[in-house]
Amino acid sequence: MVTTNPVIDVRDVSFGYGKDLVLDRINLRVARGEYLGLIGPNGSGKTTLLRLILGLLPVTQGEIRLFGTPVQRFRDRWRVGYVAQKAASFNTAFPATVEEVVRTGLTARRGLLKRFTSSDRLAVRQALDRVGLLPYKDRLVGRLSGGQQQRVFIARALVSRPELLILDEPTVGVDASAEGQFYRLIRSLRKEMGLTVILVSHDIGAITQEVSSLACLNRRLFYHGSPADFGTDEQLCEFYGHEVVRIVHHHHPEEGEGA
Ligand code: ADP
Repeated sequence: MVTTNPVIDVRDVSFGYGKDLVLDRINLRVARGEYLGLIGPNGSGKTTLLRLILGLLPVTQGEIRLFGTPVQRFRDRWRVGYVAQKAASFNTAFPATVEEVVRTGLTARRGLLKRFTSSDRLAVRQALDRVGLLPYKDRLVGRLSGGQQQRVFIARALVSRPELLILDEPTVGVDASAEGQFYRLIRSLRKEMGLTVILVSHDIGAITQEVSSLACLNRRLFYHGSPADFGTDEQLCEFYGHEVVRIVHHHHPEEGEGA
């Protein structure tokens, strides 16, 4: 029987920087083609979970598999594109062109020291074309608007032709029209490239319109399922971390521990 591995499989992962747990027994599977919105209040562990998935922090408890391979043995870095938090609030004095920044995204595929080939140049052009910035390739990144800078970093994440794209708070600091353009871009990338996408946000109102599934994190994973079933209360996830958990369980004892 042929089974498809989940793109990401997080099993019983706990993590703390010190003695306190920032993540507590997280189980999360992300299927191929899923468009997951990861929500939770500030400090709820979203970036920490991403950093574990990306292999930037060591998994000390539990296991994380990427495309079926334990993350500590995963070598195909190019399969994962990452746009870090605050990528859009770029140092405007930084003297690099759009093309140069996008090119740095190729190191995952070809190593740091190799010369750029014509196929590298083609990959950079295609990535810039996908995000609508090809005419801007020779501009200094610092001269672009926040929304355009954000697209430069998306192109940088796309240039290795990844299968999974992870974006941490991509719409922070960009205006409403750039935000709309961002969501349209992700829609078209999913269609054209068949990407699996994880989008971290605390703007649940905006992302529930877009994503195919929602995960709500607040040290523990309180929800992973359809956005429609999560309910419409924007504050729900925040409350989940505190009193509401007990209240919800009190009213639904079949879901609680004492059932
Ligand atoms: P989020 O992305 O949801 O805002 P984070 O994963 O950044 O949450 O942070 C979760 C918790 O871990 C917070 O309490 C934060 O202060 C703490 N934390 C994050 N990074 C570090 C670090 N490098 N060292 C110590 N504590 C950290």
